[in-house]
Amino acid sequence: MQANEDTRWMQHALALAAQGEACDEVPVGCVIVRGGQVIGEGWNRPISSHDPTAHAEIIALRDAAQRCANYRLTGLTLYVTLEPCLMCAGAMLHARIGRLVYGASDPKRGAVDSTAQAFATQGLNHRIEVSGGVLKSECAQRLQAFFRARRG
Ligand SMILES: [Zn+2]
Repeated sequence: MQANEDTRWMQHALALAAQGEACDEVPVGCVIVRGGQVIGEGWNRPISSHDPTAHAEIIALRDAAQRCANYRLTGLTLYVTLEPCLMCAGAMLHARIGRLVYGASDPKRGAVDSTAQAFATQGLNHRIEVSGGVLKSECAQRLQAFFRARRG
């Protein structure tokens, strides 16, 4: 049941990643969901918006918080095609996201499992449940194809 839901929403996040790719941004997409409904969406766009913090997750968190008129997104599930960086993991903690589902691992910047375990930091009073590797190869392939095309 949950596996089907996760796959479905990761496909949605991949479609958002494609929007970033169309603007020549590294294709990462993010959707925030509650009870089967989209609450926030975003894709990576730091270059076009001249904003180093404009990662897909930050855009989606801002969108969701605006729509909810609340800076806390307690218990919501965030789907993102790439393992979040330290900044985005921190933002998710501030937002009180309930669950993170990510696709591909990021061995260079991923701060949830790869380079750090941001959610396991001592002293945190909020726990985020994590499921990694959902549509892992589709998510990784989209990134690889993007970088291959840029090199070529
Ligand atoms: Zn990030």
